[in-house]
Amino acid sequence: LTFADLGLSDWALQTCKELGMKKPTPVQQHCIPRILAGEDVLGLAQTGSGKTAAFALPVLHRLAEDLYGVFCLVVTPTRELAYQLAEQFKALGSCLNLRCAVIVGGMDMINQAQTLMQRPHVVIATPGRIKVLIDQNPDIPAVFSNTKFLVLDEADRVLDVGFEEELRVVFNCLPKNRQTLLFSATMTSNLQSLLEVSANKAYFYEA
Ligand code: AMP
Repeated sequence: LTFADLGLSDWALQTCKELGMKKPTPVQQHCIPRILAGEDVLGLAQTGSGKTAAFALPVLHRLAEDLYGVFCLVVTPTRELAYQLAEQFKALGSCLNLRCAVIVGGMDMINQAQTLMQRPHVVIATPGRIKVLIDQNPDIPAVFSNTKFLVLDEADRVLDVGFEEELRVVFNCLPKNRQTLLFSATMTSNLQSLLEVSANKAYFYEA
């Protein structure tokens, strides 16, 4: 199976080639066609499996068809992961002039609110900081009113650290008809509960 077989656009195929991604990893082979088809996905895969590109490539493929912000919100447990995800999004989206914002603790909140108001295409956030920004700025929820994708990266960790309240606030800003993509190293009871309340039956991939 090649990246072309998965249904990605020519620009995405070219980008993969330039980044030295010769063929899709198993998690990419399974998840990319489902995400492009509009399905929700739960991928159980470790770091190093290529899981980031498994969601970033199809999100960027869809974003290129209708370039607006905020198209995708990615929630991840730590600052370091947020910056790493942003690097991959920027590399994979380099030919789209992608505007990608990292919203994490330790940075100036007034600047972060202004960044969000400029509607970057992709927002990568930790749960605590995005919740505070939403709570404190009445204009921010509208920034997410047309968001097409919610990604929970390292979903097991996001859910186990006790971010229920933060996630509730974030989920409430997003349209119900968005696609939800969950990526996790392990299946946990919290993740199971989230799946049970999700509107769409998720396609399930296990490495
Ligand atoms: P991840 O599992 O998302 O943390 O990705 C681990 C590393 O694998 C990243 O540095 C990617 O750039 C790289 N990578 C992702 N997909 C592929 C692929 N299909 N072929 C070669 N490298 C890849």
